[in-house]
Amino acid sequence: MLLSVISDIHGNLEALERALEISKELKCDRIMCLGDIVGYGPDPEACVKRVREVSDDVLMGNHDQAVVQPDRIDQFNEMARSAVFWTQRQLSAESMKYLRNLPYTSTWMDLLFVHASPKNPEEWKYLFTPDDAAEQLDAMMSNVCFVGHTHVPQFFTTDPAARGFTLKTEHKYIINVGSVGQPRDGDARLSFGLFDTDRRIYQPVRAQYDAKQTARKIRATDLPSFLADRLLRGR
Ligand code: ZN
Repeated sequence: MLLSVISDIHGNLEALERALEISKELKCDRIMCLGDIVGYGPDPEACVKRVREVSDDVLMGNHDQAVVQPDRIDQFNEMARSAVFWTQRQLSAESMKYLRNLPYTSTWMDLLFVHASPKNPEEWKYLFTPDDAAEQLDAMMSNVCFVGHTHVPQFFTTDPAARGFTLKTEHKYIINVGSVGQPRDGDARLSFGLFDTDRRIYQPVRAQYDAKQTARKIRATDLPSFLADRLLRGR
């Protein structure tokens, strides 16, 4: 089976549609969404509807949570806050209810899925370095965990001899699929991941999409224009 793992869409419909198109062309059997469907981007409602329609499983991200539980906004900077308030005004009651009920974790076959980190996923920890990941790998019961949250595609493993993305059952892996709708690693192309469950091979995907269109839409709203510039820069 081929699994498509998408995360951090952040209201970017152009990037979401492109990632779904690629997943369809490659005949993915399942689509897993790791959360942060909304926040930052100009099309939160359309993205929630689309993710609901196509995903087999969807998780809660910190931005989804902040939109539906305003008491969880304290960790947000000024720009993220204004995007949360703007997003709240765009979402239907049905989409708000949907976001409120998303789970923090999910498992499928022997795979674990979370938005931020496998240990205490509701704390929204950022795993940027091997040190950040070490404690998490240690505590992890499953062999493989897919995460998003940092918007930086990364691969952490207990296997010191790891080459490429073929996963072994005797080692543990935390795979960050990056962000579909707001990449921050200096590469403006959308990012997500494919996992072949039979061959145990992970494949990172980067692809161009119409970021200029998304940036134009952001500039036509009250959202901070920095959010448009950031999409074109990829950081
Ligand atoms: Zn995010």
